[in-house]
This record gives sequence, structure tokens and C-alpha cells, in this order.
Amino acid sequence: MTTIVVCGLGGTIAMTATPGGGAAPALSAGDLVSAVPGAAALGLDLALVDVANVPSASLRPADIVALSRLINDLLAGGADGVVVTQGTDTLEECAYLLDLLHDRPEPVVVTGSMRPALVAGADGPANLLAALTVAADPGARGRGVLVAFADDIHTAARVRKTHTTSVAAFVSATGGPVGQVVEGRARFVGAGGHRVVLPRPAGDLLPRVPLVVAALGADAPDRDLAADGLVVAALGAGHLPHWWAEPLAELADRMPVVLASRTLAGPVLTGTYSYPGSERDLIGRALIPAGFLDPAKARILLLAVLAGGGDRQRVAAAFAEAAGVAAPAGR
Ligand code: ASP
Repeated sequence: MTTIVVCGLGGTIAMTATPGGGAAPALSAGDLVSAVPGAAALGLDLALVDVANVPSASLRPADIVALSRLINDLLAGGADGVVVTQGTDTLEECAYLLDLLHDRPEPVVVTGSMRPALVAGADGPANLLAALTVAADPGARGRGVLVAFADDIHTAARVRKTHTTSVAAFVSATGGPVGQVVEGRARFVGAGGHRVVLPRPAGDLLPRVPLVVAALGADAPDRDLAADGLVVAALGAGHLPHWWAEPLAELADRMPVVLASRTLAGPVLTGTYSYPGSERDLIGRALIPAGFLDPAKARILLLAVLAGGGDRQRVAAAFAEAAGVAAPAGR
């Protein structure tokens, strides 16, 4: 029998109405599984672990590193796959951090819901059923951490939450989903691309990596910024007001500064524009292009490399690997 462990972290999928109004986390992993029509018909041996029961905005990277350790132990102990249920607000970041630290072939599938349990059309049971289906499917092996949501199967590196309330909020705008759950089976349509895998950081001490979002006429980040690394969510294909270039060059002398795009899809360019504040100018000032990684995921990659003791060179190599290109020489 295939053994799948469901690890509950909380989120809307585990939320019910509170007496004072509004929803808050309440349900255990066991409650979630018993609310899934059709779960028994999967014929799985299900094990349950209540890891936490919190809204996902209150999760920290250290929680996810600890979860990654737990998942590794569960799989080493004989589980065939793991499903993680959590809040959707930070799901894309948690899934990507888990993916970066997952070096085993067994599937790990993250899901959640947009609607709380017990409301009309609650999507939690269907999403959990899809996640269990994917986690038990041999075709999911070797694909790292996947996200199952609204019957789509996404890679952790590409999926984004693109709507505040829609049950179809999760989208892989670059490349599309790698599969779907159809008629109760996981059907894969894409390979999913190269994955970066990093050593799990030993301690809980995680570096300070702010994310700064550029906007029309906005002030540049402070040259004295106290941080270990910085991600800039730039305009368009990696462009910034010209007055950001100097302060960022100074910051890039002290810490890795990563250039991502605040747009929904597509990569940061590396060789098209050459005006002050363009991607060529900024990369020439030692900013590291994020490739197809969106700003939040770029921050997770930077965090994970720095937490493993990586220097600027290792950061540049990791981003080049994530982008599927050779690491730039030099600095
Ligand atoms: N606020 C919730 C959370 O992320 C939203 C959700 O789960 O959909 O925990």
C-alpha cells in the first residue's frame, strides 16, 4: 500500500467561522482528510501530522526549513509521498523553499484552499483530493515539490497566487502548469525544467533579505540598508529609475543584489537596453539577474543560498543555474 503523510500547517483550508465573526484556523489534518469525499477510494495508507495551525502570513522561513527536515525524515522512514496543507498567501514561497531543499525523488505536493471549510463551494476537499492523487502517482517522482490547486499541477518554481479570492488563483504564467488531475488521475504534460537543489541550512538563523518594489518616481533604497542581501522587484524587463543605479551599485559592493521583475511573467532581460537604470546598466553594476524567478521566489533563493553560507559568487551561480544559463564570470 502507498503511504502518504499529510502535514497540516493551517491556512484557510483549516479555517472555520469564529463566534466573533470571520474565519480562523481550527481543523486538524485528520479533520481535513475526513472531509474529502473519495479519499478512501484512493486506497492509500494515510498518516497525519499536525505541524502547526496558523495563517500563512505568520510562517517564517525557519518553519519551512524545519518542515523540510521533517519531510526528509518521513520519506527516509518509508513514506512514499507527502502532502502539505497550508495557507495560500505564502504558499508559492513555502513551496519553493521546500523545493530548493528537497533532494529525494518522492513527491511532495503543497495545497490549500481559497474558501474556508463549511462555506458553500469550499474548495479545500477537492484540492486535498487532487494533492493526494498527485502525491501517490509514480509520474510525480523526481519532479521535486509540486503545487496541486483547482486540479492544476504546478512546479514550485513557477506557480504564483494571482487573485485574492478566486478558486483558480494559482497560475504558472510562464510555461503553464505541468499537468492536471483528470478523471481522478494525475496527467503530466510538461517536464517542468531544471531544479536547483541546495543543502538544508543547519541552524534556524536565516539572513535578512528585504524585497524592495520599484514604482513610478519612487525613492531608491537607502545606501546604508542593513541587510545580508537585497531583491529589487524592478519595472518591466528589469528597469529602474536612473537615480536608483548609483545607490544599488554601492549596495552591490556590500551584499548580493538581485534584479527581478514586478510583472507577472517573463524573464528579466540581460542584453537589450543600455540607458542608465536599464538591465544592462544594472547588471554592469554587479546586480544579479533573476531570470524567470519572480521577486518573491528570487528572495527565497537568495535567502537559501545565504543561509547555507554562500557568497556573492555562489549566489550568482545559483541564479544562473535557476535560469538555465552558465554562471557569469568575475565578481
Ligand atoms: N489568509 C489565509 C492564509 O494564507 C489565506 C488562505 O489560506 O487562503 O493563511
